[in-house]
Amino acid sequence: MKGGRKRVLVTGGAGFLGSHLCDRLIEQGNDVLCLDNFYTGTKDNISHLLGNPYFELLRHDVTFPIYLEVDEIYNMACPASPIHYQRDPVATTKTSVHGAINMLGLAKRVGARILQASTSEVYGDPEVHPQTEDYRGCVNPIGPRACYDEGKRCAETLFFDYHRQHKVEIRVARIFNTYGPRMHPDDGRVVSNFVMQALRGESITLYGDGMQTRSFCFVDDLLAGLMKLMASDVTGPINIGNPREMTVKELAEMVVKMTGSKSDIVYRPLPADDPMQRQPNITLAKKHLDWEPKIPLELGLEKTIAYFSKFVE
Ligand code: NAD
Ligand code: UDP
Repeated sequence: MKGGRKRVLVTGGAGFLGSHLCDRLIEQGNDVLCLDNFYTGTKDNISHLLGNPYFELLRHDVTFPIYLEVDEIYNMACPASPIHYQRDPVATTKTSVHGAINMLGLAKRVGARILQASTSEVYGDPEVHPQTEDYRGCVNPIGPRACYDEGKRCAETLFFDYHRQHKVEIRVARIFNTYGPRMHPDDGRVVSNFVMQALRGESITLYGDGMQTRSFCFVDDLLAGLMKLMASDVTGPINIGNPREMTVKELAEMVVKMTGSKSDIVYRPLPADDPMQRQPNITLAKKHLDWEPKIPLELGLEKTIAYFSKFVE
């Protein structure tokens, strides 16, 4: 704490979730250090904060050590879209594993509390539905998604070992599919793909038969959950996501309707190891954090469509 302000490090702070988190932390009067190597994040996401004396931008790769003095760390650095994390899978695993080691080492040295942005992908293609935190998952360790899934699983292992062995104060959030403004328009994730395709009048690319399910959480809800977790005495892991489940086909139809688009739907092969179902059980978050999502998909999509409209002529 310096001058009454908490010094908060956000790794991956120029990304979709990280940049919104920086906004909120600044609003709450913190001193924010945003660390990013701009692998998928952009300066545009944080340019509005650059003139603020309590906001600092560090170009750095979390796979390398860094020495800073901070009170709290949100470890958000890692590409999250399958297309991006599979582009350089070795770098993805390094980001999760070496990044966790470096950030946990920093937390240990300065006595900072550290939150890990883990993921529903630790459950893989789940046989337990909806997913509860005690479910151990079904992940293919050698498939194309493994660089992300196993990297995040190993990061969780490191968090709990630093906690048990070195008494580091950890918080582990398992984030389920989150969407909203500042997702990269060419990010490759389903919401940004469908909205951009619908706005451009291009065909909507539905992978497989579109009957696989996901549960989509609006960014504002997600961040409220993450910040509550950081402030709580809950170690986790704890699911943060919206339990409203739908098929990917239903999402496609909803986006077409809401954008008033004339786009047709085309079917493309289902990527390897694509999970067939995903829905968070958020009983623990409700009970221990008094948190649950409030923003209905219709409203969240409306805000997201308005944001992406700016990218279309
Ligand atoms: P994003 O790709 O928009 O943001 C990730 C950020 O991390 C980017 O700014 C990127 O440049 C940065 N980054 C990547 N590798 C780095 C490295 N080696 N060093 C420094 N910075 C690096 O993705 P997002 O959706 O904002 O996701 C943020 C975090 O939340 C990720 O850790 C992701 O795994 C997790 N998460 C997100 C979702 C989701 O649906 N959005 C779901 C589960 C988990
Ligand atoms: N998907 C799709 N069309 C697209 C992009 C994704 O049908 O253009 C599907 C994808 O196969 C998956 C779901 O949408 O079943 C969610 O994909 P996303 O990449 O957003 O994240 P995931 O939950 O798979 O990590």
